[in-house]
Amino acid sequence: MFSYLTNLRCRRCDARHPADVVQGVCTCGSPLLAQYDLSRLAAESSRAAFAEREPSLWRYHELLPVSQPEHVVSLGEGMTPLLALPRLGERIGVPRLLLKDEGTIPTGSFKARGAAVGVSRAAELGVRGIAMPTNGNAGAAWALYAARAGLHALIAMPEQAPVICRSEVAAAGAELYLVSGHIGDCGRLVNAAVARRGGVQEVSTLKEPYRLEGKKTMGFEIVEQLGWRMPAVIVYPTGGGVGIIGIHKALSELVELGWMKGPLPRLVAVQAAGCAPIVRAFESGARESSPWPDPHTVAFGLSVPKALGDFLILDAIYRTDGCAVAVSDAELLAAQQELASTEGALVCPEGAATIAAIRVLRERGGIGEDEVVVALNTGAGIKYPQTLSATAPLLRPDGEIPAP
Ligand SMILES: *Cc1c(COP(=O)(O)O)cnc(C)c1O
Repeated sequence: MFSYLTNLRCRRCDARHPADVVQGVCTCGSPLLAQYDLSRLAAESSRAAFAEREPSLWRYHELLPVSQPEHVVSLGEGMTPLLALPRLGERIGVPRLLLKDEGTIPTGSFKARGAAVGVSRAAELGVRGIAMPTNGNAGAAWALYAARAGLHALIAMPEQAPVICRSEVAAAGAELYLVSGHIGDCGRLVNAAVARRGGVQEVSTLKEPYRLEGKKTMGFEIVEQLGWRMPAVIVYPTGGGVGIIGIHKALSELVELGWMKGPLPRLVAVQAAGCAPIVRAFESGARESSPWPDPHTVAFGLSVPKALGDFLILDAIYRTDGCAVAVSDAELLAAQQELASTEGALVCPEGAATIAAIRVLRERGGIGEDEVVVALNTGAGIKYPQTLSATAPLLRPDGEIPAP
């Protein structure tokens, strides 16, 4: 069988919903999570089956929701490199530091994973158009994958969103709107448009079940690339939290299949000091977050004042004995520079935030010297020219380059 998907389950009220029709959120308003027939899969296959397959996230198709191989819409996403960072690791006292580098993925950010699986499944279920509010990267990814699938895409983003993402959406031929407001305002406008139009699915963060399934494949890849071993810690830049919830779900599925042994890695959510609702909730031991009043950070992927799945993020942290840490824009920008100059990895500011956080955690004793620590870089640094700058002497053609 190509997919072992069975149904959808609400993690708040435990209601079950069929998975063979288009679904949004649960009747209680909470995200729905895809369920698989894991006992049957364990009986019929093993993790060794993955080894011979193509290096994309579709190698894990039994644990993904698309039921027919011909419905897969792909730009070659997944199986991104897991890079050792020995120099930087030595410097910050974590010599076994690794970087899962999503900077090489189609569309320039790991939003491609969610879009590939989300668009494939939507098209398989007969959806003809998708609509979403976005801060930038998600809109770019979904618009490009929608173009590949032949679906219409309606995207609304704040006027302040990065020009590069706006241009990607426009290049994809999507119906694009700029809104003189924040992402919440975009959401209300999209919602109203979807209610008036037929055949269009709203695919905002965690408002449909399958983006999460695409993003969870980062969890599968990390342990497969480590020779089916769990790292001690995974550090993740958290906005809407789809990635961290997804990695937790993926690793839990592997343990339930009997294909991996626990304990799970400690999951660390990193946020920007200018928008840190999950960190604030974690520090007070809360199970949900409160809306962050005035979000501001250069790491725009982290600018989510209140995540729909906040209770799932906090649950993943508590269950794995992880934590949540905030770093300032100055710290994450310094880490971006340091990572590029010590290791040659030019990461996005969100990815750089994980490095800044690992340094802080190591100093506080939250990470041990001999632990295997995986930092997630969620996008390409070159997508963020506003965070990079260069000063250099200007030479005349008849000038001279000085001696070293
Ligand atoms: C969206 C985004 C994030 C946050 O992702 P979540 O999984 O929703 O928390 C982090 N980094 C980048 C580059 C993003 O675009």
